[in-house]
Amino acid sequence: MPHYVIIGASHAGISCAEKLRQLGSSDPITLIDRLAGVPLQRPPLSKAYLGADNAEEESFYLRRADWFTEQNITLKDGVDVTAIHRADKTLTLSDGTSQPYDELILALGAAPRRLPMAEMDAKGVHVLRDGADAKALKTDLASASQAVVVGGGYIGLEAAASLRKHGLSVTVVEAADRLLARVASPSISSYYQSLHEGHDVTILTGTGLTALTAEEGHITGVTLADGRQIPCDLLLVGIGVIPETALAEDAGLAVGNGILTSHSYQTSDPHIHAIGDNVMAEGRWPIRVESVHNAQFSGHMVASQFTGGKAPADEAPWFWSDQYDRKLQSAGLVPAPGDEVVHISRAGKREGGLSVWTFAHDKLVAVESVNDPQAYMIGKFCLEQDKPVQAAQIADETLDLKSLRA
Ligand SMILES: Cc1cc2nc3c(=O)[nH]c(=O)nc-3n(C[C@H](O)[C@H](O)[C@H](O)COP(=O)(O)OP(=O)(O)OC[C@H]3O[C@@H](n4cnc5c(N)ncnc54)[C@H](O)[C@@H]3O)c2cc1C
Repeated sequence: MPHYVIIGASHAGISCAEKLRQLGSSDPITLIDRLAGVPLQRPPLSKAYLGADNAEEESFYLRRADWFTEQNITLKDGVDVTAIHRADKTLTLSDGTSQPYDELILALGAAPRRLPMAEMDAKGVHVLRDGADAKALKTDLASASQAVVVGGGYIGLEAAASLRKHGLSVTVVEAADRLLARVASPSISSYYQSLHEGHDVTILTGTGLTALTAEEGHITGVTLADGRQIPCDLLLVGIGVIPETALAEDAGLAVGNGILTSHSYQTSDPHIHAIGDNVMAEGRWPIRVESVHNAQFSGHMVASQFTGGKAPADEAPWFWSDQYDRKLQSAGLVPAPGDEVVHISRAGKREGGLSVWTFAHDKLVAVESVNDPQAYMIGKFCLEQDKPVQAAQIADETLDLKSLRA
């Protein structure tokens, strides 16, 4: 009877534990997380959670508080795992105890990147990764009036939309020459720039920060590379994440940009698997994917291997983002710009709807849609079924997308 120990009780870790039970395992499962309390869903933290009443906290739980007991899963929350001892299969915990395991699953996620300035510790400066970060931001935004968001990726933009809803003036500063440069096609970047500007957000691209200023320990402004100064009483830093690899590296496991695993998420130790945001799995995606889908998929894959249960169907990586009244859905991965990369935009049926179909070397590789769920569903289907879709077909606005399903 193996004892499964999962470090990280968030989207990946909980999905894995849940699938172990659903696929018939009655073996002991222990979930350990350094965060105290019932784990919260992460996606709403930059969206609905920031506007929600504290009394609604339970609606953001990843699983109900009594789910863990019901499933006979031990949740050790508020406890950090400080070392993995592979030789005797034990963990050292921050409460001074040790935890034995038979099979260890690392679902450690990632930590937000911080700016290298001392004023990162000033009051009014925030990052956004977990419930404690979101609570601190929620408290401060109630009394703030001018926000600067550093980073025009999804989290920065979602937070910018939420801050506007609260009536703050918002400036987004992005070092790349367009928003969402790392993850989205140029048309989607332009769409979101216009959307935010239409909501009176100031967008500054192609410029970095050189300094932060603080007075009496509270943030008062930022200085841009061109010398411009922007005053603020709230600063949100959303400049990406760093995968949590230190614990694995200290234990002698192979790491790179994430914990390195086989296609089936096994690390360089056969009794240790890794899942979710902290993983770089061989032969899966060309980059380390950070999404709820990847967390759930990898958790499910590992649980199915342990139990001999049904593995999840291979899916194109998918993602969503909610900003104002727009829902972006994307499937596949948008490659970096190149000679062989072509993006085709189509208007959607709904007002403001749009889809962007990306081809690399004449092959469909990604579909992004805004308020156009039909294009997303059909595009995702074509990607997964490897349908021979041509760019010229998509460019033809008279084409009924449903015909691609045939
Ligand atoms: C604000 C926000 C909005 C997002 N919006 C979207 C969205 O709209 N759509 C989407 O698909 N994805 C979204 N994401 C991304 C998504 O939430 C992540 O991909 C997902 O949370 C990854 O899950 P994970 O379990 O791998 O990692 P995490 O959620 O980071 O969880 C890792 C857990 O491990 C714990 N841990 C780490 N090290 C230790 C240790 N040594 N000891 C004990 N515990 C440890 C951490 O405390 C943490 O709880 C969003 C993320 C954020 C932060």
